Amino acid sequence: MSDVLKNLPRIQLANLPTPLVPLPNLSDQLNVELWVKRDDLTGLAFGGNKTRKLELLAAEAINQGCDTLVTTGAIQSNHCRQTAAAAARLGLACSLILVGEKPAGAQANLLLDQLLGAEVHWTTKENQDITINTVHESLRQDGHRPYAIPYGGSNPLGVAAYTLATQELLEQDPSFDLIVLASSSGGTQAGLLLGANLAGFEGQILGISIEPAADELKAIIRNLISETAHEFNLPVGDKPLTVNVDDRFLGQGYAVMGQLERQAIELFAQTESLLLDPVYTGRAGGGLLQLIKEGTIPAGQKVLFWHTGGTPALFAYNQQLNRQD
Ligand SMILES: *Cc1c(COP(=O)(O)O)cnc(C)c1O
Repeated sequence: MSDVLKNLPRIQLANLPTPLVPLPNLSDQLNVELWVKRDDLTGLAFGGNKTRKLELLAAEAINQGCDTLVTTGAIQSNHCRQTAAAAARLGLACSLILVGEKPAGAQANLLLDQLLGAEVHWTTKENQDITINTVHESLRQDGHRPYAIPYGGSNPLGVAAYTLATQELLEQDPSFDLIVLASSSGGTQAGLLLGANLAGFEGQILGISIEPAADELKAIIRNLISETAHEFNLPVGDKPLTVNVDDRFLGQGYAVMGQLERQAIELFAQTESLLLDPVYTGRAGGGLLQLIKEGTIPAGQKVLFWHTGGTPALFAYNQQLNRQD
């Protein structure tokens, strides 16, 4: 692994390495050897995959003399909640631009945003960029120094965090045939692919798309990989980088929980006491179960499900998750 990435300024926010845990009950039931990488246990106000990215992003913010983290996402954004938590821990302010309508009462991630002291601004998809600019401008006018974190924390620093995470996994166990994860803004998958390439990992990496169509997400991921390799001068090897994305599980759209997610959440909870979330890991877990059932993932394979977090969102879906019987 490149020393450039290891030596990047970094502020410890996560408890690393996260546990790598076998899932014996599900493995028996599914006829594959299933493991989980518990990035839902990074810590930092319920944690998740954005915590690793924020270790590098927040370090850059502080090195640039910034005093306010500014980012954007959906109402139940895990990324925004973890950014708010990082800011609180580091004595920074946090402004969040959330897309949607302010609900009557805050719950789950939005409740945590408030408890963590973030200032929330509401906008629409169409006005998102304008609102972000306005918030930056008014912070500057008030004498603050805002630091912009992109959607999902997916830029070269965010990708670098998951390039390093790949190394962490390969030191725990390099023998997986396949890694499956929820993929949305692409930074996590880009980092895993880059890390796998640099380390010569032979297994496959498959992103289950949570939002964009496969072609769109693949292009985003390829772009992030080349930007990151360029920015940090990484010796991306001769092995061609194949980006695998499956977009068959988008259902009724982003953050709309269907039968796929609900069944996966119940199965993982009831066989392994492993909690998935309704938006990301529930969809990716449901996709994984389908891939095994249809034989796309052959029996006997050693499969890693990379748990990216998101569990607080369960409490925003209590009505949909309540048993109907
Ligand atoms: C943000 C998020 C993802 C997607 O990660 P990207 O790097 O944006 O692709 C997956 N799972 C959870 C729980 C997330 O919050």
